Amino acid sequence: MTLSEHMNDSDSDSSSSTCDIAPSSPRLIEGQQDGSVQDSCADVSCIHPDADSDIDVWDLVDGRQILSSSDSEVEGEASLTEDLVQWMNRHDIKRTAADDLLKLLKGHGHTSLPSSARTLLKTDRMVVSEEKSGMNYIYLGLGNTLVKNFDKYPDEIKQTTKILHIALNVDGLPLFHSSNTVLWPVLCSILIQPITVFPIAITCGKSKPENLDFLHDTVEELSQILQNGLQFGETNMQVTLKSIVCDAPARAMVKGMKQYSGYFGCDKCTQKGLWLGRMTFPEIENFTCRTDQSFRDQENAEHHQTVSPFVSLPIDMVRAFPVDYMHQACLGVMRRVILLWVRGKKKHKLSASHVQEINTKLLALQQSIPACFARKPRGFDEIERWKATEYRQFLLYTGKIVLKGILRNDLFAHFMSLSVAMCILVSPTLVQHHSQYAHSLLVYFVRQGRELYGPEFLVYNVHSLLHIADDAVECGGLDRCSGFAFENYLQVMKKMVRCGKNPLTQVVKRIHELDSVSATSELAKPKYTVSVNRPNNTFILDDVSCCEVVAESNERDDDGSKKILCRVYNTLEPAFMEPCDSRLIGVYKTSLENSRIKLLSPKYLDRRAIMTKKSNGKETLFLAILHDL
Ligand SMILES: [Zn+2]
Repeated sequence: MTLSEHMNDSDSDSSSSTCDIAPSSPRLIEGQQDGSVQDSCADVSCIHPDADSDIDVWDLVDGRQILSSSDSEVEGEASLTEDLVQWMNRHDIKRTAADDLLKLLKGHGHTSLPSSARTLLKTDRMVVSEEKSGMNYIYLGLGNTLVKNFDKYPDEIKQTTKILHIALNVDGLPLFHSSNTVLWPVLCSILIQPITVFPIAITCGKSKPENLDFLHDTVEELSQILQNGLQFGETNMQVTLKSIVCDAPARAMVKGMKQYSGYFGCDKCTQKGLWLGRMTFPEIENFTCRTDQSFRDQENAEHHQTVSPFVSLPIDMVRAFPVDYMHQACLGVMRRVILLWVRGKKKHKLSASHVQEINTKLLALQQSIPACFARKPRGFDEIERWKATEYRQFLLYTGKIVLKGILRNDLFAHFMSLSVAMCILVSPTLVQHHSQYAHSLLVYFVRQGRELYGPEFLVYNVHSLLHIADDAVECGGLDRCSGFAFENYLQVMKKMVRCGKNPLTQVVKRIHELDSVSATSELAKPKYTVSVNRPNNTFILDDVSCCEVVAESNERDDDGSKKILCRVYNTLEPAFMEPCDSRLIGVYKTSLENSRIKLLSPKYLDRRAIMTKKSNGKETLFLAILHDL
């Protein structure tokens, strides 16, 4: 089925879109009609040329689990004290060396610094742990840590926030390659930009907790807070738990249900899986969704393993556990689809020369990716080392640019349906108006995926895309319910462990040290600093024109901020029309002739963008950055 047939067939409400640029009437992508196959799969130098039997191919694609997924994207200017504490921890600086440095700095004018490293670090001399769920366990508390972290936000946010929305995360963090020591922290996030993450409880041991007792303190205190609110100064603030974000195995554990690889493994619907050498979920539209009540009543007995401690909370046991797009869409689906292109069956595998062409394009894009991305693009030849943030970058932005004209047309159209849908669902603005359209694109992606890649394509991660639009609506965009912010914190936490002896004690001491010096500086920092240098100088303006900042000026705006000299592009054309006008998701084509220099106030810069120019220099492409920075 083509995308156009699917869209005519589906219940998409795209016509009711409130945006000026409605999704286009569905039709085939140019050049698709002839069904031409662009790649030469007979090329014997393809990666894994022998991989063509069903078993070999799917094992190559599905045979690896990624445990640690993303790098920290945490940035910001911290105070000198905080920087010193972090520097000491990062490089394992001896206390005596730090004492000497502090003396030197104090002698050179930094008189407010403490005289000794012990005072600087304010280290707890004793950290007492207990045993829970067969592991070492420390409860740090929810109410006190919540108040402390909310207090770091700027005053205007503190004064205007009436309800504090929070999310939880439970995940395993393997510490060393050489042993199976794992931390199982319970993390909390405050859902105010920039999102703050902090630990509530930490469990450490071998493998994983043997039962769910390690959640009891958290659930008990959370229950009190959700019921009675939280005292913040003179104000009693209402707190709501928006979501509990976990990857699929951890979610199954904390919900007390069977794993996603089981026959009734989907936590959103009751369809029975089909075993095809791996568990698949073939039903695309005719399934019954689980409800809070059906979950609590354990109506589908084969779905449940035990009773989750979370059932004692006033939350929806189905909706409060969203699909985590970091693990499931980026590390799950996007990675799997790329692996099918580079080592899948001959009929949809890219030739070695096409892979090389894509790699060259990805590397060329490095100069266009702003510093707000943790990483620059890498080629498919390094796919084993790609982090979750790199899959996200490919899925939302670079894939559209580098695959066009190289990937076979039907596979490209299929990828684009996923890419555009996810662009809509990560954007808090777009998700409000176009979630139904995104959902219909994902239904197409799943159905067409079966046609293109076979029934084995429909594993749990792919199937979960059929539920993800609902979660995006519920949370106001996928970044509000994804693992990205938590994963950043987990990586910071991993770096707190310096050696194998008492990792739990080390982590808790480092947390207390950082806590004691943590200032409001990072949370109060401006959304972004304006640069005049590529690639950090490209933005979408609030009137939806595109601009490059070219120079600073001495002229000032009413509010005193310095105006900036910008090259503004006004005539913006779509860069593609399938599956919709690309301007819907902030992708614009323009040219130098359509630009002029203007003096602007920085307040008109609405969001960052990626700008890339065609090699002939005539055509310029802008892609609005849609995910949370
Ligand atoms: Zn389902």
